[in-house]
Amino acid sequence: MSYLPENMVQLGSRRNVMREIREYGLLRAREVGAENVLDFSLGNPSVLPPAQVNDTIRELLQAREADIHAYTSAQGDLEAREALAASLTRRFGMSYKADDLYFTVGAAAGLCCCFRALACSGDEFLLLAPYFTEYDIFVRENGGTPVVVPPDYATFQPDLQALEAAITHRTKALVVNSPNNPSGVVYSAETIQAMADLLRRKAAEYGHPIYLISDEPYRELVFAGFTAPWLPAYYDDTLVCYSYSKSLSLPGERIGYILVGEKVALRQEVYAAICGAGRALGYVNAPSLFQRVAAACDGLTADLTVYQTNRDLLYQGLTRLGYTCVEPGGTFYLFLKSPEPDANAFCKRAQGYDLLFPPADDFACPGWCRIAFCTGTDKVERALPIFENLAREYGLPAQA
Ligand code: PLP
Repeated sequence: MSYLPENMVQLGSRRNVMREIREYGLLRAREVGAENVLDFSLGNPSVLPPAQVNDTIRELLQAREADIHAYTSAQGDLEAREALAASLTRRFGMSYKADDLYFTVGAAAGLCCCFRALACSGDEFLLLAPYFTEYDIFVRENGGTPVVVPPDYATFQPDLQALEAAITHRTKALVVNSPNNPSGVVYSAETIQAMADLLRRKAAEYGHPIYLISDEPYRELVFAGFTAPWLPAYYDDTLVCYSYSKSLSLPGERIGYILVGEKVALRQEVYAAICGAGRALGYVNAPSLFQRVAAACDGLTADLTVYQTNRDLLYQGLTRLGYTCVEPGGTFYLFLKSPEPDANAFCKRAQGYDLLFPPADDFACPGWCRIAFCTGTDKVERALPIFENLAREYGLPAQA
């Protein structure tokens, strides 16, 4: 038996598959040159933040106010929360105030705070497959029990019958991530309406609230012809976990928020429990400077046109080559069915051509792969002939 908690030692020793591929890519780049490694493994935005981000940082620093680098309130600077609440009120047509908001160290911390705040012993949290690899760890390590719900594999929208079957009297919350990492799917308004109706019916049946935790780092990353509905408009008991990592291309700055609207059941207790969870986890006071930047730049996005270009090239190109792919409605991910049952073997074969992307086993979807196309378009253009070689090797039926 180890002197240390075995689960923590294992968690820290076992690498996340995307990061493992990334590390391999960096080593390989030393051998063959970075330009010859086509790495589609990580969801690291490839475009610069909008100019307003740097302008705001400069203005804030030039003002040289003594408190810009000081501790803020645990839940975030009051003025920044007021400005953010005003922005959300304008954008989503619902009324929000400063005390509905808790600034967090990205969506990851927001999710952990929500799980920690809600989980009583034995409580279940429903995860809609495929889902962000860390959910399982975040739920377990914050006192909950994850329950995986399979998707409708034809559309990668949630399977509502499977969802209904998974809800029990122990269900505390459902986690929804739309636009979705890794599938790129945006849940339709009909799906969300049906999901909200189901949750309301089940909450009434069991006599307690079932919360919806909406994990939204990709909210603004939506392609032409798609829209991402605002979940609190459909379901009162929604806690929004947002992050500026992808929309403003600021993943390293670690800034996001939790929004607990006034209609959320047991609102005061939920907000207090989130503050308590932030305290217990040591997450109080998200980065001071970036709280102000986020408040000033909320609703802006980096120039996302390259993602649309890459998405069109990849989706059309791969479909033409005979691959089965899910049409991305948002994010910068494309979900590709492995041409052989073991997606690990397919990814390894692609790796032989220095084309790198992870299998989706860790996203609770074996047999599929995720291609993160947040790269330059030249990389996508150079990847397609390699996909063509692979398609020939697997005898895929190319389309005219
Ligand atoms: N949730 C999803 C679905 C993600 O894809 C990510 C990051 O890629 C996160 C949460 C964590 O985001 P953050 O960088 O804001 O912690």
